[in-house]
Amino acid sequence: MLPTLVLVGRPNVGKSTLFNRLTRSRDALVADLPGLTRDRHYGRGRVGSKPYLVVDTGGLEPVAKDGILHEMARQTRQAVDEADLVLFLVDGRAGLTPQDRIIAQQLRKTGRTVLLVVNKAEGMQQARVTAEFHELGLGTPLPISSAHGDNVEEVIEIALEEFPEPSEDAEDKSDHPKLAIVGRPNVGKSTLVNSILGEERVIAFDQPGTTRDSIYIDFEREGRQYTIIDTAGVRRRGKIDEAVEKFSVIKTLQAIEDANVVVLVVDASDQITEQDAHMADFVLQAGRALVLAVNKWDGLDNYQRDTAKRDIERKLHFLGFAKHHFISALNGTGVGTVLKSVNEAYAAAMAKLPTPKLTRVLQMAIEKQQPPRSSVSRPKMRYAHQGGSNPPLIIVHGSGLDKVPDSYSRYLERVFMEAFSLQGTPLRIQFNSSK
Ligand code: GDP
Ligand code: GDP
Repeated sequence: MLPTLVLVGRPNVGKSTLFNRLTRSRDALVADLPGLTRDRHYGRGRVGSKPYLVVDTGGLEPVAKDGILHEMARQTRQAVDEADLVLFLVDGRAGLTPQDRIIAQQLRKTGRTVLLVVNKAEGMQQARVTAEFHELGLGTPLPISSAHGDNVEEVIEIALEEFPEPSEDAEDKSDHPKLAIVGRPNVGKSTLVNSILGEERVIAFDQPGTTRDSIYIDFEREGRQYTIIDTAGVRRRGKIDEAVEKFSVIKTLQAIEDANVVVLVVDASDQITEQDAHMADFVLQAGRALVLAVNKWDGLDNYQRDTAKRDIERKLHFLGFAKHHFISALNGTGVGTVLKSVNEAYAAAMAKLPTPKLTRVLQMAIEKQQPPRSSVSRPKMRYAHQGGSNPPLIIVHGSGLDKVPDSYSRYLERVFMEAFSLQGTPLRIQFNSSK
């Protein structure tokens, strides 16, 4: 499981600046859940060889007893409860404020591990800028500058000290599909899990799911072994609010990381939202094999179906590598085909790609279309070998390869994808240049 860091602090201390620096992404996952009062951002970061998840809670106004600010505090607490470690940001220029004291007190009560981070410390004397924050009783205050990057990496290293390095060979060792059923609240995840499991679901009912942990359910179908990672958890029929309550982005992201195939469920009777797209994008970033289940296909007329298809094509166009299934989890229609595609996607993600065939395919691809010449020379691609699986990584060796344009890389991706029938999994291509 990836360690999860959560950024907490009153507004304007620099949380989103730090978040952007850590994730370096413009497309962080934004939760647009009903009832969420301020955007929360979720992203992936990496320091050295250690990847992690980071959550920007938006801001904490601890003084509010009710109303919108109170609700925000409640949601921040949920994020804190789900995280492994809290980075509590304060503003070194503004100095210690009463709000900081209250947040510190609340954080101490949670019993979570907290690192006290003094932001905006650029150009200031370290001892001076941190001095007054010692009294918060949260350990040594660590000065950083989110805006300039000073000391940021060091602080993240300290934060992740306790977490083990991912093992050298972090490849998935399981010999069967481990599928995560993910999607925003009310798209039909629980219904789909029930439909897949049928009777066997009963067993799972006894396992209490905590907010953070998904439920893992093993089952067999037609002689094949599967594990379902159920992010929706057990839930009583018809309780819509409960779905929102139980939904956790962190849980979803962890499940995606831990799966080897993701079944992303979207709701055909509703529009594709930003959150659907962000989740899909996260699956891609994580390199997971994917099957798209467009649910609630029952009860739609032809016009509505066309509209839904166009909406998906437009907003989820980057999922071309994945099979799309139009299903009704409620009636069980199409559910079998989802499992079939899960098997294919799994096989693709784990495929063994022998060097001679990879190299042959590479040479054929080059014959058809040469890589474009850079200002100095034309890249020379000599051979290819497989560097990993889940997702398949293809390493192309040669010279002058540091300037191969993305468009050519995508062309090679398509060629390899077709030659090895890799539908369902993203593919990564890396270029290794020798001098
Ligand atoms: P948030 O409300 O906690 O997310 O805070 P923001 O990240 O939006 O930052 C609030 C303000 O502080 C913005 O004007 C930032 O440019 C500024 N800021 C953030 N980090 C730093 C820093 O390291 N140094 C300085 N001088 N300003 C910063
Ligand atoms: P979750 O929050 O993603 O786990 O969603 P649920 O499985 O609890 O479903 C939310 C609501 O959508 C429930 O009222 C379900 O009965 C309904 N639902 C789920 N699947 C379908 C379907 O295929 N067709 C229709 N019409 N409704 C469905």
